[in-house]
Amino acid sequence: DLHPVRRALLSVSDKTGLTDLGRALADRGVELLSTGGTARALREAGLEVRDVAEVTGFPEMMDGRVKTLHPMVHGGLLALRDDDGHVAAMETHGIGAIDLLVVNLYPFEETVAKGADYDTCVENIDIGGPAMIRAAAKNHAFVNVVVDIEDYAPLLAELDARDGATTYAFRQTLAQTAYARTAAYDAAVSNWMAEALSLAAPRRRTVAGTLSQTLRYGENPHQGAAFYVDGSARPGVATARQVQGKALSYNNINDTDAAFELVSEFAPGDGPAVAIIKHANPCGVARGETLTEAYKKAFDCDRTSAFGGIVALNMPLEADTAREITGIFTEVVIAPGASESAIETFAAKKNLRLLLTDALPDPRDAGLTTRQVSGGMLVQDKDVGHRGLDDLKVVTRKAPTDDQMRDLLFAWKVAKHVKSNAIVYVRDGQTVGVGAGQMSRLDSATIAGVKAQRMAEVLDLPDSLAKGSAVASDAFFPFPDGLLEAAANGATCVIQPGGSMRDDEVIAAADEAGLAMVFTGMRHFRH
Ligand code: 5GP
Repeated sequence: DLHPVRRALLSVSDKTGLTDLGRALADRGVELLSTGGTARALREAGLEVRDVAEVTGFPEMMDGRVKTLHPMVHGGLLALRDDDGHVAAMETHGIGAIDLLVVNLYPFEETVAKGADYDTCVENIDIGGPAMIRAAAKNHAFVNVVVDIEDYAPLLAELDARDGATTYAFRQTLAQTAYARTAAYDAAVSNWMAEALSLAAPRRRTVAGTLSQTLRYGENPHQGAAFYVDGSARPGVATARQVQGKALSYNNINDTDAAFELVSEFAPGDGPAVAIIKHANPCGVARGETLTEAYKKAFDCDRTSAFGGIVALNMPLEADTAREITGIFTEVVIAPGASESAIETFAAKKNLRLLLTDALPDPRDAGLTTRQVSGGMLVQDKDVGHRGLDDLKVVTRKAPTDDQMRDLLFAWKVAKHVKSNAIVYVRDGQTVGVGAGQMSRLDSATIAGVKAQRMAEVLDLPDSLAKGSAVASDAFFPFPDGLLEAAANGATCVIQPGGSMRDDEVIAAADEAGLAMVFTGMRHFRH
């Protein structure tokens, strides 16, 4: 199954490592064919290379749209070397076999990410490149196809180990990588078009991404894992710069995403906000006059859980907040920027991972979310639902005061980012109890209450932190029990979607308990 590499076609947009590869191949006696720009780069490096145009007898034309789409190229890639008919066809038409194809495609994803206009994006859809990749990959019985610069070194190592040849197994692996690349490429094109045409519904979409990082392991050490990116330029964990700290883990990426998405619900124009996340659920979210105050308030919601947490900020990090954060062990901090002195403050904490973006995520930015199930994938629109003051309906005799209304809306925003069933108590722009991920809403209300009571003891306060709080429920109360539990824990006002068969009973119970309650008419399940 060893097959020697005698002739290679190189056609790359990203010319990183090209001349080194070209030289290494030439040194091993491989003849080089190449397209316009690639050939020029190789020649400038003093290498001998034949133009594809010479091989095809056609010039590159139509602004490069047609360069390699020719039987002299595709015949050389697709011919079965051990098939008499194929060999005869090659002889008849003077087609030379191509044993190695090195292609990286027009930078379509980068062009989209840069915000290029429609026509420029269209022009950056590579046609000849994917055609050659697919042809070479199909014929992996004989042909090597390299689509990733990272694979240049392993290719040369293989050629050296096999005396200028490669094994079938090696070529199979390359082919598999090649099809992953063309699939992701076409998915990027299709998804870009869906967005350009505002086709919101998650139909006829291809869910694919480009490998960005191989992770040490997945949720657990016995699970392999990797991070794929969709190529969009959205601010977030996928595009953040890591300033310091160890490589991100699978759980870090998941939690950092949850943290940044949550804190971005709080517009910087309305003041600083901080979210601390553990296991994708918030263990503290707060606003403050300053970022440092917001951090302290978020920390004081649940000091125990905040240990080893992920911290997200809605504005650039300053040194004093950085110093405060270094007070306990924190896994990751993500912020839309940081001052030099803040970065220096973190430098002493080698293990702390600092991620910076140029901007906050836009919480209204539509997109898709996916979840794997056995045998398939569930795809839905991202939950960008939003409810403001004007959307709320007061359903109790008592109406919330302005201060209560502020806390209700704050609690509602947080509840959207808590795993269902979610119950969130908030007081003065600070979560004081978060009940997450329970199978009963009543249990979530109880747990959030227990946490509020425990933190009061830690902070040496006489009353539960939930006393006088606003409470949010991500979905309706199906019975009065959860609502009454919240009232017993100290909540004085309630925000929830409404819409239960027993709304009347729940409203009556709220009135009897002296609560003010508003309905949002929108639910925020999150599983
Ligand atoms: P070069 O810089 O060598 O002029 O162009 C290299 C790029 O052209 C590569 O990204 C390759 O995928 C692409 N390419 C090769 N053949 C064709 C073709 O026939 N049509 C189009 N549109 N692109 C091609």
